[in-house]
Amino acid sequence: MRRLYEEPAYATPEACYWTQTVPSRSWPRAQGALSCDVAIIGGGFTGLTAALRLAQRGVDVALFDAQAPGWGASGRNGGFCCLGGGKLERTWALRAHGEPAWKTWCDAQKMAVAHVDAVIDEQALAVDRHSQGETLLAHKPKAMVAMRAEAKAMAQDYNTRPILIDRSELADHGLSGPFHGALTVPIGFALNPAKYHAGLTRAAEEAGVRVFAQSPVTRLHTRNGGFLLQGADFECAAPKTILATNGYSSEDLPDWLRARTLPVMSSIIVTRPLTDAELAAEGWTSDQMAYDSRTLLHYFRKLPDNRFLFGMRGGLYATPRADAAIARKIRKDFHSMFPAWAEVPITHAWSGLACLMANLTPFCGEVPGHPGLYAGLGYHGNGVAMGSYTGRLLGDIVLGDRPDLPYPDFMRAEPKRFPLGRYRRSLLAPVYAAATLFDR
Ligand SMILES: Cc1cc2nc3c(=O)[nH]c(=O)nc-3n(C[C@H](O)[C@H](O)[C@H](O)COP(=O)(O)OP(=O)(O)OC[C@H]3O[C@@H](n4cnc5c(N)ncnc54)[C@H](O)[C@@H]3O)c2cc1C
Repeated sequence: MRRLYEEPAYATPEACYWTQTVPSRSWPRAQGALSCDVAIIGGGFTGLTAALRLAQRGVDVALFDAQAPGWGASGRNGGFCCLGGGKLERTWALRAHGEPAWKTWCDAQKMAVAHVDAVIDEQALAVDRHSQGETLLAHKPKAMVAMRAEAKAMAQDYNTRPILIDRSELADHGLSGPFHGALTVPIGFALNPAKYHAGLTRAAEEAGVRVFAQSPVTRLHTRNGGFLLQGADFECAAPKTILATNGYSSEDLPDWLRARTLPVMSSIIVTRPLTDAELAAEGWTSDQMAYDSRTLLHYFRKLPDNRFLFGMRGGLYATPRADAAIARKIRKDFHSMFPAWAEVPITHAWSGLACLMANLTPFCGEVPGHPGLYAGLGYHGNGVAMGSYTGRLLGDIVLGDRPDLPYPDFMRAEPKRFPLGRYRRSLLAPVYAAATLFDR
């Protein structure tokens, strides 16, 4: 596979907290000559939700993961099931694309959260959910001014009632810290992503999906009007194929993907469970999932067992030196935001790859110029809801049906290629540097 980062970025994380919260499982490796109606490459939220939808509709599905289902970002994210998925700026998008296109995009984000909620209910999944929506914390006074305007826009876009919290009221909400106020949007909830993913996998298998692990698809040929997927010990003939590889995509699977995604690292640390005294000392007792108003934002939440999860952007390189620098930076940022916990042991730390797109929106649909090949990817670090939703849409689109849920134009446009080809990661350095200055 031809991928962008150094090899350690594709190694299994040693200390991901979620791994210990679900029973370990194994799946067969794909072997020999196989066939199915729809082949799915990638076993994260996108691939599994598409697989579940298709199997529920009587389609014979085979799903291949290079490592194991949930090994990618889906098994190691922050568990924020929330609005998002793109990075389009509202004013620009409204001007360039008009109100209806923007509204459908907002409806889709909202529906994406509702979709995960419905799957959890339908499948009776225990996913440790908490948080009434999501809380944005102003990291400087100017940010609070912007958030007041944002509250109005959010109310309009998502037909909801955002709650503004003044700085003086933060402590009453259990949200103490170096913050200048907050905005809670009551859409979304937090979950244990590994439990959600494990439940999805089980549901897909029960619906008849054949799941294969340790089975990287290394070549994708067109054959007899469909596809032949090849791996080391297997080949699979399928009239239709879905690519659900997101930040772990290979540049040449197929060539169309070359430079159309920009994988970025995100890093997370988790503490041991905090005592009531420690929570009181910091003044953070809230169950809300939260993030700050920086461009290079931090995301954090108290887990149901009182551990604290804190995440932020990862490094530009997956070298030992870059890893060490990020390990220092995430601890420094965590301790400066929550100084009372400076001595609390951090028991888990890991990182993974999310996926940016040059269009600033996810892609969901048939791959242009490749009839029968479909892709769902590019959620800009917000794929718990949007990745699941994209999989759900693909489950209908692959069968030639019009999705019964909002399918925004923004998600249909062919993803543009990033400039600089395989050196495109270097585009991030000046962006990160400028954002760091802006965030001060
Ligand atoms: C540290 C971190 C924190 C995050 N936090 C959040 C959050 O709190 N909320 C949120 O909404 N989003 C979050 N995200 C983003 C979110 O996790 C992803 O957008 C989402 O999981 C993507 O799901 P996916 O199924 O598309 O891809 P993935 O889950 O990444 O799965 C892709 C799979 O494809 C497989 N694969 C790749 N190539 C091949 C091949 N050739 N053959 C077979 N298999 C292949 C990989 O092994 C992998 O398992 C976070 C991401 C990271 C990395």
